[in-house]
Amino acid sequence: MPGKTQVAAQPGWYTLDPEPALLGSRCGRCGTVAFPKEQAFCRNPACDGTDFAEVELSRRGRIWSYTDARYQPPTPYVAADPYVPFALAAVELAAEKMVVMGQVASGIDAGDIHIGDEVELVLEPLYEDEEHVYLIWKWRPLVAGILKDVSEQLVRAVD
Ligand SMILES: [Zn+2]
Repeated sequence: MPGKTQVAAQPGWYTLDPEPALLGSRCGRCGTVAFPKEQAFCRNPACDGTDFAEVELSRRGRIWSYTDARYQPPTPYVAADPYVPFALAAVELAAEKMVVMGQVASGIDAGDIHIGDEVELVLEPLYEDEEHVYLIWKWRPLVAGILKDVSEQLVRAVD
């Protein structure tokens, strides 16, 4: 995609390359981390904090649950148009003690992943227009992702 500028499909939700990270909020009073960012009220029901700092979330986590998304997910989870089924993973970030939903990286379906698999955050094109490529965050399983790279290299070598 030469000549096009890569931008976030949801600006302010994550940083861009080379090491993308989701942007959450941390409560100044109790330290609870939230994603997407909290603006007004702390997610901790026992806390009345209203001061939030922007923090980069862990780039790696483990699959806590996943599903084969055969239907368009609700907002704020943006999907390709026309809709293409994909695996959707709920990923546990140990340091933040939270779970973040996201699509599983393209080319990897629900049959390739397992609960407990380690994943890392990647950005992939969601759609593009004349000038921009819009990137969305996805979770890429470390093991399945490496196997996919190796098999693609083998296919190229055979060609
Ligand atoms: Zn709080």
